[in-house]
Amino acid sequence: MEESIAILENGKQAYAFSSGMAAIGAVFQSLKAGDHILLPDDIYFAVKKLMEEVFKRWNLSYNLVDMTNLAAIKKSIKPNTSLIWVESPSNPQLKLSDISAIAEIAHKNNALCAVDNTWLTPVFQNPLELGADIVVHSTTKYFGGHSDVIGGCVVVNDDLLAEKIKNIQILSGAVPAPFDCWLIARGIQTLHLRVKKQSKNAFKLAKYLENHPKIEKVNYPGLKSHPQYLLAKKQQKKGFGAMLSVLIKGNESETTAIAGKLNYFTLATSLGGVESLVEHRKSVEGKDSPTPYNLLRISVGIEHKDDLIADWENALSNDN
Ligand code: PLP
Repeated sequence: MEESIAILENGKQAYAFSSGMAAIGAVFQSLKAGDHILLPDDIYFAVKKLMEEVFKRWNLSYNLVDMTNLAAIKKSIKPNTSLIWVESPSNPQLKLSDISAIAEIAHKNNALCAVDNTWLTPVFQNPLELGADIVVHSTTKYFGGHSDVIGGCVVVNDDLLAEKIKNIQILSGAVPAPFDCWLIARGIQTLHLRVKKQSKNAFKLAKYLENHPKIEKVNYPGLKSHPQYLLAKKQQKKGFGAMLSVLIKGNESETTAIAGKLNYFTLATSLGGVESLVEHRKSVEGKDSPTPYNLLRISVGIEHKDDLIADWENALSNDN
């Protein structure tokens, strides 16, 4: 499984972990006390919590920065900044970050650039080819593909970095069970088929929702209305991915009511499986979250596109 993921990401070494969070934690553990990290201001909320509640006590500091703004990134760098963390597209607002440009800024300042590539998978984006030093995945999502396994992975190209991650993997012990590795390895066999179909469905759904009078905004990098559509075309080689989010014209309870009316889209956390999911992120992230109250995050599956669109049409109609 590690070899497959390393090959797919065009990396030299990959190390498997028992969850995406364990993989992310391993990257932070590879830093030294006193180091400073730049995190995206809309990063997957658990990563910010991990920094705040665990690694701050180990004397790692961080700043949140708008990763779409290169000038802001340059300004936030400190003499002890050793890592810039990128999530592109971001979760759940689908903001894109220019990986090549950020990697260049990191390297000019003797820092590393790590990219969480969970959402696009190597089928659509290869951060190491764009200059990043580290790629992390929650293999729970698209690699597994069937919402029945939890896993993570760190991919690198540098032998010294590889040695550090490998030591943490072995000595900290957050390794995946053999059966879980088998499930993920089996998922990899259909990864490109699944994500291409999912991405096609997502594009069709995004187009439909963009024109619906009850939708305020659709966040999907494949739409020309996305502010970074051109970056998406340049950076995401073969597709726009299967995740999107929408802002509903309505208050919080109207927004959650719509999610509850969907049938094909199960109201559940996680993403990337063959079945479509929908989630009210603000409820999950808590009241301090910067996510809008009227945002629903959508993970599009492999069902027939007409069924998926009809489901939204029904949920958004005034007749129920
Ligand atoms: N990275 C991203 C972008 C995620 O969306 C998630 C989980 O939702 C994770 C990391 C954490 O992965 P895991 O649930 O496997 O610990």
